[in-house]
Amino acid sequence: MGKSLILRSKSTQDVISWNKTLRFLEYIYNANFLLDMIKVIAVIGAGTMGNGICHVFAQHGFKVHLVDISQERLDQAVALIDTNLGRQLAKGTISAASREDILKNISTFTSLPDGVQPAELVVEAATENIDLKLKIFRELDQVAQPGCILATNTSSISITKIGAVTQRPHQVIGMHFMNPVPVMRLVEVINGYATDRNVTATVVQLAETIGKTPCVVNDYPGFIANRILMPMINEAIYSLYEGVAGVREIDTVMKLGMAHPMGPLQLADFIGLDVCHSILEVLYDGFGNSKYAPCPLLTNMVNANCLGVKSGAGFYRYTKGSKEMTVSERFR
Ligand code: NAD
Repeated sequence: MGKSLILRSKSTQDVISWNKTLRFLEYIYNANFLLDMIKVIAVIGAGTMGNGICHVFAQHGFKVHLVDISQERLDQAVALIDTNLGRQLAKGTISAASREDILKNISTFTSLPDGVQPAELVVEAATENIDLKLKIFRELDQVAQPGCILATNTSSISITKIGAVTQRPHQVIGMHFMNPVPVMRLVEVINGYATDRNVTATVVQLAETIGKTPCVVNDYPGFIANRILMPMINEAIYSLYEGVAGVREIDTVMKLGMAHPMGPLQLADFIGLDVCHSILEVLYDGFGNSKYAPCPLLTNMVNANCLGVKSGAGFYRYTKGSKEMTVSERFR
């Protein structure tokens, strides 16, 4: 009797694992099918992240429609992509002909409907502001083709909340690129509560197609990257605030002691202190735990418009055209 029980349970296991294999093959098949359909990608927002995302998609043969409310930002983005392609050319990683082809793959739009309508995938990378993102997704839902996947590059806003303002929450997903996009390999793929598994599999395959390494995570505040990174940055700012050590000392300990390529204060300047502050607030609100409350020094710096690299000063001072970094007078 014991033997037949074992046999029966073994065959049940076999059936389960066959079912799993078949389901897995179905996802791969559907994902391949959906991926083959993606020819035109609309990128919303031509800032720091939008221009990098546009660059990598165009480099991998996709037609990219870059959309921004500002023609000036669009022109700056295309000029920056051209400069970065020039660097790749000088290094010998692309040819002069492919530089031209990549630029030809990019078109710019100030009208969201015009840029989005022909697209099979949208990656939204506009300013990190929840009201703005919800407004953009309501509009995307109206103008995008029925099968179009709507992805967002948000660092912290709930994918589920964004999906819920559309009639297609199953087609809404997080595609969180890292800065600078052409260099950083990770793409955090975030499943909203309603995201369809075929959509996830398609986005995973797409990330692999453009040479990135996708990691699939679920939609909770900060996802994985910022849930772990931001408390570390906040703690570094607290250490400075409490006088435990100076800016250079804190960054040096983490660089030389933990083999981090950048110290946490330098990294905060690079990300933008306003961005760090708003992500910490999302973590604080989302978990209701005081350990995520932004350090008062960070709040003060944001209120003083001391935002890091983009404003010329944060924990360090930055001069345009120079790689020199001196500690800001306030912390000397
Ligand atoms: P950014 O400020 O550099 O660029 C935002 C762009 O969005 C601007 O060019 C702005 O004109 C445009 N924009 C604003 N409203 C718009 C609208 N209605 N339609 C079209 N374009 C609009 O911001 P960024 O740093 O590129 O961040 C973009 C997104 O990427 C945010 O969600 C941010 O959280 C996320 N992100 C940023 C980083 C980073 O290190 N900067 C890293 C990962 C993810």
